[in-house]
Amino acid sequence: MATMNELYQSVILDHNRSPRNYRVMENADRHAEGYNPLCGDQLGVWLKLGDGDVIDDVSFQGSGCAISTASASMMTAAVKGKRRDEALELFDRFHGVVTGQRPAAEANLGKLAVFSGVAEFPVRVKCASLGWHALKAALERQDEPVVSTE
Ligand code: ZN
Repeated sequence: MATMNELYQSVILDHNRSPRNYRVMENADRHAEGYNPLCGDQLGVWLKLGDGDVIDDVSFQGSGCAISTASASMMTAAVKGKRRDEALELFDRFHGVVTGQRPAAEANLGKLAVFSGVAEFPVRVKCASLGWHALKAALERQDEPVVSTE
């Protein structure tokens, strides 16, 4: 059986090598940019919301370290098809785990739990949460770029 560390590495490497939903979205109705000055990661997130505020489509593009890219890639896969409120609730659970405020075991994050290890590394927390902060900003129609501060 793969150890947690091996699982962590293989999932992150896979999403870093072939990020999902990696493109600028034409005719998106929401967009936000995120920047993590500590690591130099920057990315944009685009959304298309449909009936009932369901996330019909989501994409991201940018440049950054493996953790920021893999986390944004997994974020897009996780929230596609979810309602706006469900995606914001998932943001809260993910953010609680990566900042060490909530035990991964009870957050029910599925594959996203591979990022729970970053809680011990404050700089990496910002990398792992950058795409999620941009998602949240886009959902809340925040026009200013997001600087990942936690
Ligand atoms: Zn980074």
